[in-house]
Amino acid sequence: MADCIFCKIAAKEIPSSIVYEDDNIIAFKDINPAAPVHVLVIPKQHISSVLDLDEENVALVGDILLKCKKIAQDLGIAEKGFRIVNNCGREGGQTVGHIHFHVLGGRMLSWPPG
Ligand code: AMP
Ligand code: ZN
Repeated sequence: MADCIFCKIAAKEIPSSIVYEDDNIIAFKDINPAAPVHVLVIPKQHISSVLDLDEENVALVGDILLKCKKIAQDLGIAEKGFRIVNNCGREGGQTVGHIHFHVLGGRMLSWPPG
């Protein structure tokens, strides 16, 4: 999608620090990390948010969760614990309109979120 920063990252039109990639998914380090490990996992296909999931594309999310697990293991945060976050919409804190899942870890994470 034109003017979508994460579509541009998926297309390698914008550089990013990629930690995982396959035909459908790409994962890269967050440019403004909120924890020692902070990776964003996205489908290459443009889906705006959870509100745009449907029967056709929801399988991608299961695949993304498996890749979140793999990334957590590969980056050494699986054993101590980590968090997977999806922000949806303005009050949910979503600032980029391409669905993404944050993988956060490497420090004690507080709850509830702000
Ligand atoms: P959210 O607030 O849930 O929409 O998350 C968007 C995330 O994208 C934020 O944590 C930003 O730091 C991150 N971000 C924005 N632009 C880039 C970029 N070019 N490369 C990596 N991460 C980015
Ligand atoms: Zn996009």
